[in-house]
Amino acid sequence: MEQRRVFSISQVNCYLGCPLKYRFQYVDKIPRPWRVAAMAFGTSVHAAVEWFHKERMSGGSPEMAEILKVFDADWYAQNTDPLVFSERESKDSLAEKGRAMLQLYVESTNGTRAVAVEQGWELDLADPETGELLDVRLRGIIDLVEEGGVLVDLKTAGRTLESGGLERHLQLSTYALAYLLIHGSIPKLRLDMLLKTAKPRLERHETTRSLEDLVWTARLIREVALAIQTEHFFPNPSWRCTECEYYAHCQQWRGTWPSEQFIQVGDGEGVGEIAGA
Ligand code: SF4
Repeated sequence: MEQRRVFSISQVNCYLGCPLKYRFQYVDKIPRPWRVAAMAFGTSVHAAVEWFHKERMSGGSPEMAEILKVFDADWYAQNTDPLVFSERESKDSLAEKGRAMLQLYVESTNGTRAVAVEQGWELDLADPETGELLDVRLRGIIDLVEEGGVLVDLKTAGRTLESGGLERHLQLSTYALAYLLIHGSIPKLRLDMLLKTAKPRLERHETTRSLEDLVWTARLIREVALAIQTEHFFPNPSWRCTECEYYAHCQQWRGTWPSEQFIQVGDGEGVGEIAGA
């Protein structure tokens, strides 16, 4: 029997951002010749925050110096891959900013305790109102679950949320949808944003979702899965193109090429060329 494909929320987000990028990354599996430094930086901050919460959950009182050591080690490892920095950022400037952001994060955590960190889940997607199975297996990871059942997503960003960004935040909607399908109730949600402003800031945005919101989310994910399964992969030019690792591949795109024609022949530096173009 054919096994049902499992989609992650990152994949759904990637498809919504640009279906052609999704194809390059997840279908053709073209190795990324470089990564955006901001993404790698976010991973390092996450690693330190995760370690901090796990230490506290096991009864420890981690010192700031230890938390920063985790960040420094991860940031060093991230930089062993080719990273592309924005004009205003460098390896050292982000290292400094990351330390300041973590200091701020830890100081503002006060007595609040996490009950779970990086909690993975996987389920059969269903319409939360009718219970109808939507023929999609979905998985995700919740950054943090706090005492009182608040589900938290942590982001590092250069600027604050745009208007309506909290209500439309797909990651939070999916957290709530998964929680509802597993536990039968809609949880409280929070988006914690660590901002890389000149003086780092931490913004905490509390929200929740209605049942109607979650029906909408489930249906959206089902439609994305259908589009992927039926191979609807087209470019969606936007501001994202400036940080797209597959820009050169995209320039060569001429419609529905067979995937096999995309062959990475680059040396890992810069963007790989395309054979058969
Ligand atoms: S360059 Fe833009 S349109 Fe092309 S694949 Fe990347 S994000 Fe999509």
